[in-house]
Amino acid sequence: MLSEFDLIRRFFTRPAPQAILGVGDDCALIRLTPDADLVVSTDMLIAGRHFHRDADPAKLGHKALAVNLSDMAAMGATPRWATLALALPEANELWLEPFARGFLQLAKRYRVDLVGGDTTRGPLTICVQIMGEVAPGAALRRDGAKPGDEIWVSGQLGDAALVLAHLDHSIVLEPHEVAMYSPRLHEPSPRVGLGRALVGIAHSCIDVSDGLAADLGHILERSQVAGVIELARVPRSRLVDRKLPAAAALRAMLAGGDDYELCFTAPAERHGDALQIGKRAGIALTCIGRIEEGAGLTIVDAKGEPVSIGITGWDHFGALARDSGFVPPEQP
Ligand code: ADP
Ligand code: MG
Repeated sequence: MLSEFDLIRRFFTRPAPQAILGVGDDCALIRLTPDADLVVSTDMLIAGRHFHRDADPAKLGHKALAVNLSDMAAMGATPRWATLALALPEANELWLEPFARGFLQLAKRYRVDLVGGDTTRGPLTICVQIMGEVAPGAALRRDGAKPGDEIWVSGQLGDAALVLAHLDHSIVLEPHEVAMYSPRLHEPSPRVGLGRALVGIAHSCIDVSDGLAADLGHILERSQVAGVIELARVPRSRLVDRKLPAAAALRAMLAGGDDYELCFTAPAERHGDALQIGKRAGIALTCIGRIEEGAGLTIVDAKGEPVSIGITGWDHFGALARDSGFVPPEQP
């Protein structure tokens, strides 16, 4: 069976001689002038797949841009311009007004200009392309991790999966917990400032959109190195361990997806600098493991024994996407 990534590799990964970096990273890199690299990415949200059709439109507008800003963050880039392609079942002002407000408020906060797009009738689909810039050659990429690097992650992982578990009634969160955690799923905060601050320190970086195991896996594969992370060090809310059964807690932290935190690697001698950057950005940074020679990700417990989590992360064409009920069914 063809996975999402096999599919992209086989049909759409081709040499891009006019780009610095083509398919395979969080963004593509294009050198337009000697002074700056253009950084480009696109991300799509589909009703019934990425969000419930009755989702709050203001939050949806925010999230559609936030997930794209997160890819800018992963490259250490400064976002500048966006285009917005929309397929809408109907021209409903009651939906459009809050959607535009949510989108444009976040755009204003990051000084992103909405410069174009496309609008058509069809099943609700939101596709944003984001463009930004970075100093030539300075972008954080997935392919720069080196043996001896430490592996870091920002914030905490598994919050979005926790809220999803509440929404599909597999657990019950108290109202104050819902209020505290649901923005982590519905209105993620892209780590743009943090990404920019990591330029010159991090050897590699990715945003955690599909789950730590899968996304760190992309760094390891592209960098041709191995990674070891210690489970107990993976930062998560106490609620993840308290509310979810052990196996589900593991999945939420390592394969839950929708976290939009940054995972990066940096030389061990820059440990103190990384901590400082986290402090300055007001975002907890946690060192969770190290890069070694070899291939693949090993997750170990406190005794150093390997732990198996069964699944690796989000794959739009994988078994989880079809069978788990994790994704709300497609609406007619
Ligand atoms: P991210 O999660 O960072 O948005 P994805 O996992 O969606 O990245 O995509 C992985 C890589 O494949 C990215 O470089 C993306 O630009 C590229 N990609 C995905 N779909 C296509 C496609 N249909 N054609 C060309 N490139 C694609
Ligand atoms: Mg990404």
